[in-house]
Amino acid sequence: IRGRLDFLTPEFVAGMCASFGNYVGGGRVLVGRDTRTSGGMVQGAAVSGLLSVGCSVADLGVVPAPTVEFETTRLRASGAVAVTASHNPPEWNALKFVDKDGIAISKERGEGIEKIFEQGSKRAQWSEIRGIENYSLALRDHISAIKNYVDGARIKKEKLKLVLDCGNGTASLLAPYLFRELGCGVLSLNAQPDGFFPGRDPEPTMGNVRDLIACVVETEADAGIAWDGDGDRVIFVDEKGCYVIGDKVFALCADSALARKKGDVVTTVATSDVVRDIAKKHGSRVVYTKVGGPYISEKMREMRAVVGGEEVGGVIWPDVHLGKDGFITAAKIVEAMARSGEPLSKLVARLPAYFNAKTKIPCAGEKKLKIMRAITEKARKEGREVVTLDGARINYPDGWCIARPSGTEDYIRIFAEAKSCGRAEGLVEEWSRFAKREIG
Ligand code: MG
Repeated sequence: IRGRLDFLTPEFVAGMCASFGNYVGGGRVLVGRDTRTSGGMVQGAAVSGLLSVGCSVADLGVVPAPTVEFETTRLRASGAVAVTASHNPPEWNALKFVDKDGIAISKERGEGIEKIFEQGSKRAQWSEIRGIENYSLALRDHISAIKNYVDGARIKKEKLKLVLDCGNGTASLLAPYLFRELGCGVLSLNAQPDGFFPGRDPEPTMGNVRDLIACVVETEADAGIAWDGDGDRVIFVDEKGCYVIGDKVFALCADSALARKKGDVVTTVATSDVVRDIAKKHGSRVVYTKVGGPYISEKMREMRAVVGGEEVGGVIWPDVHLGKDGFITAAKIVEAMARSGEPLSKLVARLPAYFNAKTKIPCAGEKKLKIMRAITEKARKEGREVVTLDGARINYPDGWCIARPSGTEDYIRIFAEAKSCGRAEGLVEEWSRFAKREIG
């Protein structure tokens, strides 16, 4: 539930959290928040709501969202509320509801909470009200679990030099400690928590991490790492100062996970084929879901998959927990660098190369669905395989193209990937021309 403070009022937050407390059936619920200025206010209201329906609350304080998810299963809580708006602008905040398995509640499952909210939640009697406990070991628990999950001796031996851009977010509280304890040389940027995000925008896009890129080059570091505001997503900068996009980070992680353990990979229909190629190399299967972290986590729980992730750089390591975790992901990439003894640019260069193209076409309301149906029909008539899990993904022998109606804006987005730049642009051109003609 995401928005500015005119929407996320204390009354609304307390009401939604009371409904969530009913939804999980009471018990102990964890609460953690990111570095936003409104964090204390929203968290206070959330705690009130939870207590009002008889839940007990463990307050984890200011911690990354993956730390909340990790602790939910470790502490056997009934659920958790992470107060974080991830990569959104500073004036935003949000409630992320997490189930007992540490999986974020999807839009569909969230309707159950909304129903309780509308009907009115069942409040506790005065004698049933329970207390708040301050649990201050969450960061320490999370760091220990990550250190146990990587080859610490190997990382220590390589003495890698890293620049960490924490973006004034919750990564500031975990990342510099983790990598120093792993024996890396650490130079940190924007590593003081600040809800105004003075260092950079909380979203680690290429344009937003220019300081990191310059710093990696200037200090001749082995890599640069940057997280988003709540630390579930991570991107890398190689030793030459080149930005490594999310799906390449995911592909390197899938390679590392599958080398250690055989099994399935779960990802969304919008993820690069580089992940599919890596899975094929290990004799593994890729299972596709709709776009969105919760869908990947749910599918992974169901299939007991080895690794999962999304194209924007969120990777899930189910051996530790079922949420996207930018810190385990970063540590596994550093481990892969240490094991290979090669620079990051070489590891990335060895991945199969693909090219992307994208565009968006103005299209509003009901018409979106009509156009989507027309695209699906035309592709099927041409004998193409069409996956309609989320929009329409059309598979070709040498690439693929996906058309998805935007959920929040009046657009249809078209994205293509192929072995050459020209082919990717050709696919986008072909389908956007068709869509425009249908729109009329
Ligand atoms: Mg995030």
